[in-house]
Amino acid sequence: MRTPIIAGNWKMHLTLAEAGALVGPLRTDCDVDGVDVVVCPPCTALTTVVRALAGSRIGVGAQDVHWEPQGALTGEISPTMLVDIGCRYVIIGHSERRTLFGETDETVRRKLGAAVQHGLIAIVCIGETLAQREANQTFEVLERQLAGGLQDVSADTVQQVVLAYEPVWAIGTGRNATPDQAQEAHAKIRQWVGGRWGALVAQAIRIQYGGSVTAANAASLLQQPDVDGALVGGASLKADAFTAIVQAGQSRRAAARTAAGR
Ligand code: PEP
Repeated sequence: MRTPIIAGNWKMHLTLAEAGALVGPLRTDCDVDGVDVVVCPPCTALTTVVRALAGSRIGVGAQDVHWEPQGALTGEISPTMLVDIGCRYVIIGHSERRTLFGETDETVRRKLGAAVQHGLIAIVCIGETLAQREANQTFEVLERQLAGGLQDVSADTVQQVVLAYEPVWAIGTGRNATPDQAQEAHAKIRQWVGGRWGALVAQAIRIQYGGSVTAANAASLLQQPDVDGALVGGASLKADAFTAIVQAGQSRRAAARTAAGR
């Protein structure tokens, strides 16, 4: 049974005071059993949030990482630095990084290799644009991103990878994929993983859906058999909305337990 994973991507939002105000209620309401909960603040707030969540089950992740351990790379942050301050997760290849900052499957490959080598759990984002979906290229695009980005991942390190299916047209638009669209893409992604690492890995890997997830639509998305969690942008900035999405993750887990007779 896969443990659902709900991650909040705070993007370039929240001052230290605002981050502290958000994390307080999350610590009270989202430190739960049966769901992996992660928050990914901007790098300015990482240390503060790690400290505020110390001793809780809520993990902290960065939104990006460089592949080098150190160097003359102004503005970048290394995996060593993230581990040093207590980060356990990192988002890699978010569509905003791909579209606005020129990231490619090759940079995803390098970042992913460095992240897993340093023991981080990588949330690797993939997804098609609207034009690609309308041209019936969705699965071709996903396969290309998977093959390119995950090229170096071995059977030993694949358990450190969480995949996030994030259709670009759904991110920050208020237009989420329908549960059927999400399920269809997730099933294809799982099939690809099976072809690459075998059926056991395919059954174990977690695939999050991301793109305008809200308290209102989380349950219907998370009821899909291959949707193992959510990567949440806007709604992760509100404690009550994020908590409701975490609770939808708990319901998914409970339903899976009932179905498995446990
Ligand atoms: C995201 O940032 O990955 C995201 C899915 O954003 P939103 O939930 O706001 O669409």
